[in-house]
Amino acid sequence: MWAVLETSPVRPPYDGSAGACRRRQSCPMKPSAPQFVGDPKALDELLVLGKQMACPHCHRAGAIVGHGWLRGYSERGNAREVRGRRFLCSARLRVKGCGRTFSVWLEAIVPRFTVRTPTLSALLKAVVAGESRKSAWERLEAGLSLRSAYRLWARLLGAQSHLRTVLCRLTPPPFTEDPRPLAQLLAHLEQALGSAGCVLAGFQLELQRGVFG
Ligand SMILES: [Zn+2]
Repeated sequence: MWAVLETSPVRPPYDGSAGACRRRQSCPMKPSAPQFVGDPKALDELLVLGKQMACPHCHRAGAIVGHGWLRGYSERGNAREVRGRRFLCSARLRVKGCGRTFSVWLEAIVPRFTVRTPTLSALLKAVVAGESRKSAWERLEAGLSLRSAYRLWARLLGAQSHLRTVLCRLTPPPFTEDPRPLAQLLAHLEQALGSAGCVLAGFQLELQRGVFG
């Protein structure tokens, strides 16, 4: 889906704003719709700029239209929340799009999962600091079961090579004496994205790749 992004040697990071989207249009590289944006306002701005974005499937510009909201359960409770927007590369009438859809997510959303990136980032930081997974999860009051926490942890372990490979586009891994792979991953995330805030949301927004691929 993101073959253009993967083959581009240098790509300006998308900062989640409409201004950044406009800069992408003036970029000599083929402009492409983002996969993640910073906030709901940026989703609305993308809707306005849809005609200028290129489709991530066929790379044709001028055919993108809004195709509804992406909604799902909140992390805590049964409330439904906006997770992103779906767009259509329109093939109707005289528009020569491919007819396929694609999604643009908010930076704190983990596609296909209920958990949010701030919870995953906090769990990672707590365990690297020495806290047990059980203790950290209960303290975070994430609204998901402990069993879910262990599954998510296994996912995070499995995603390490993906995360670190993509991070190397921003910066090489820092030196650390901590031999634990997840401690090295956290150090790399903080080196590339800063230690303040949610490092995994920052990863998705800056690198336009999902935490779990
Ligand atoms: Zn298309």
